[in-house]
Amino acid sequence: MSQPVITQPTASLYIDGAFVEGRGASLPVLFPFDGSLIATLHEASTTQVADAVAAAERAQPAWAALAPVERGRVLQRAAAIIRERNADLSMLETLDTGKPIQETLVADWESGAAALEYFGGLAATLTGQMIPLGRDWVYTIREPLGVCAGIGAWNYPSQIACWKAAPALVMGNAMVFKPSEETPLGALKLAEILTEAGLPAGIFNVVQGRGAVGAALTGDARVAKISLTGSVPTGQRVYAAAAEGLRHVTLELGGKSPLIVFDDASLDDAVGAAMMANFYSSGQVCSNGTRVFLQSGIRDAFLDRLAARVASVRIGDPRDPDTQFGPIISPGQAASIRAAIAAGQAEGARLVAGGPGEGAFVPPTVFADATDDMALAREEIFGPVLTALGFETEDEVIARANATQFGLAAGVFTRDLARAHRVVARLQAGTCWINAYNLTPVEAPFGGVKMSGLGRENSAAAIEHYSQLKSVYVGMGAVDAPY
Ligand code: NDP
Repeated sequence: MSQPVITQPTASLYIDGAFVEGRGASLPVLFPFDGSLIATLHEASTTQVADAVAAAERAQPAWAALAPVERGRVLQRAAAIIRERNADLSMLETLDTGKPIQETLVADWESGAAALEYFGGLAATLTGQMIPLGRDWVYTIREPLGVCAGIGAWNYPSQIACWKAAPALVMGNAMVFKPSEETPLGALKLAEILTEAGLPAGIFNVVQGRGAVGAALTGDARVAKISLTGSVPTGQRVYAAAAEGLRHVTLELGGKSPLIVFDDASLDDAVGAAMMANFYSSGQVCSNGTRVFLQSGIRDAFLDRLAARVASVRIGDPRDPDTQFGPIISPGQAASIRAAIAAGQAEGARLVAGGPGEGAFVPPTVFADATDDMALAREEIFGPVLTALGFETEDEVIARANATQFGLAAGVFTRDLARAHRVVARLQAGTCWINAYNLTPVEAPFGGVKMSGLGRENSAAAIEHYSQLKSVYVGMGAVDAPY
């Protein structure tokens, strides 16, 4: 029998290579399935946020002075440790988020380890350019920004921490990370693991707290870059705070992404993808394809097949390996999803499956016969609510898919690949899938357009968002002055 996972961390914060107890308000951590208390943490005081930034600022120059491959090795060792401990880390993630263990075992820390491995491997490629000018020449140096702040949402807490830390650290930056108050545990594990892998003290720090702690962090003038995963309103506040000092930002925000299914699509694949695009992590995924546009010839068959498959989803205790669908993160979020479902019914959309549910659970819910003007089809619900909309032509569906303030993701299902490429070329979204949905390998850039965000995470493109270029002009001869 394996030991139960210890949920109470050594202390609430991780500053300068050591656990430190927070001096701010108490932060109870609840298991979303039954509301039981699994840990009690304390927020960082304003002074402790400043201490974390100071520790990062002190440690960063020596870290940046290492050869990039040395930094890369630390990240790769951390990836290996995560993989060795994946079972325990995944159970901790399940307790912190309420997501089914069958998901956390394959999607959360695994994706975090992939990011540490990928960026660790990229270390040796972080070179500049040599630009010949005849006699003279220019070379460029890609330099770190300094102290970066990372702020995470609660749906993929450990993955988000790794996705932000890996490119930041490999570039020679230091980071102060603030997890969501709902899910504070994974980032502390990452801090411990990075230290064990050889990361110097002060390079990755964790402060806990509610929005005010995030605001203290983003307001600190010593922070050169802020990377936020969160909602649009928080993104706007963070962008405004960063603007004051012309500081760098990456914003990974919300969406209301379209998933377009043409008549010639493989029915089972499209239905499966629509379910993955709406019900994975109980629908609490930013890139979800929540507006499912069905061409008129496939609509009825699609909805019948979808309703049948939704009926067989196993809902229950997320610790049970057979459970496919868990609770919502918090009572507040469940209430907000229920309000959206009630509004959908009041607006006249037809409920095909699911409904408000009870307690911590909102079941997989499907609305059909919705129209574009309904709140159901316009606002991000951040829960397991799929809204099906009908369409007739390609031009029509592209215009309607794009008629939103968001632009995080989009998907197209068709066997006609010329059409698939033609459609994605016209979709306003940072990430598009053809005959697939919600796959976000670390090799591919990820991020949004319009109100869904700025900058990109993952892939070599992320390095650009954690570095700046210095140009060095080298004069090779006499200086030709006209005076
Ligand atoms: P929030 O915007 O409420 O919070 C995000 C983070 O910002 C939290 O850590 C929060 O702290 C913190 N925060 C709140 N106010 C401030 C502030 N003024 N300054 C700095 N930090 C602040 O988002 P949720 O946690 O509710 O996450 C859900 C949202 O995140 C959805 O809109 C979803 O689409 C989006 N998201 C986007 C993803 C992407 O990659 N594009 C991925 C995942 C989610 P606290 O929670 O402690 O208040």
